[in-house]
Amino acid sequence: MAYVSSDEHEENGVARRVLLAGPRSFCAGVERAIEIVEGALESRETPVYVRKEIVHNASVVGDLAQRGAIFVDELDQVPNGSTVVFSAHGVSPAVREEADRRDLEVIDGTCPLVAKVHAKARRFAGRGDTVVLVGHEGHEEVEGTLGEAPDSTVLVETVEDVEKLSPADAGRISYLTQTTLAVDETAEVVGALRKRFPLLHEPSSEDICYATTNRQKALNAIVAESDLCLVVGSTNSSNSVRLVELSRRQGTPAQLIDRAADIRPEWLEGVRTIALTAGASAPHHLVTEVVTALGEYGPVSVEEREITRETVRFELPSGLRGDTEQPTDSRTS
Ligand code: SF4
Repeated sequence: MAYVSSDEHEENGVARRVLLAGPRSFCAGVERAIEIVEGALESRETPVYVRKEIVHNASVVGDLAQRGAIFVDELDQVPNGSTVVFSAHGVSPAVREEADRRDLEVIDGTCPLVAKVHAKARRFAGRGDTVVLVGHEGHEEVEGTLGEAPDSTVLVETVEDVEKLSPADAGRISYLTQTTLAVDETAEVVGALRKRFPLLHEPSSEDICYATTNRQKALNAIVAESDLCLVVGSTNSSNSVRLVELSRRQGTPAQLIDRAADIRPEWLEGVRTIALTAGASAPHHLVTEVVTALGEYGPVSVEEREITRETVRFELPSGLRGDTEQPTDSRTS
């Protein structure tokens, strides 16, 4: 296929196509977590501490820090008796216990879908199973889930890890997954688990969340007809990185960018169609800014490709609901 260079685009007036994946950007869990910090900042007269990044996005964290939120890595940086918000990724019971001991006022930003995985970990371990957690080592969500039943849970990332498992009782195994994994890669790991442990206890529902799944499906629908994929998201955002990997696995070069200024002109050489998406923790306005920035390299035509409309909403914790009517969980996608 003969492509026109970005200069030629400008000269010939050929519009470069931008295919916008839909859904993209914020999910219900991220919106709720951000509203929790905003609500705490408005309603508390004392400093509001946030343990870890409330969501994995540099722009969101920078904005909330400017508005007064104090981000810390661990609770020992929070003075006794202060208010602390737990991030959307969840925390282990040990962190909750420490907060109790230190008399901290906790406002829990844990996404309800992560909390659901924690509840399953407790239930599966409680009935005597070895719990195999499929996830990425070191990710905050994984650390929190592992902490629910540390003696009964083992972490696997790959099919090779599954081969190395040596549980005490091969007949009592269940599995869980991190909420933000690649759907296709996880299916391979779970397939290996089923093969290795025919009596594997299956969870009643998927742990990879609706938002992760929808963003991957939406990108899958456009990536084959694109010459370049741009994913707006931060490098520590698991679901954003999965989108980049998905595109590359399909043979379309992909770049993860935090903001429009990260776009390098050489990426656009010979590129006629760009798939544009954003991870669940990246604000919508950053995508708009990327489209505007692409316009500086020649004319662009923007086409939205929405595969489904998300209507999921989660309630805020009771202490932050105020007088106005709050959205309810209406999980439909
Ligand atoms: Fe919750 Fe999924 Fe959003 Fe994570 S990506 S905050 S699990 S809805």
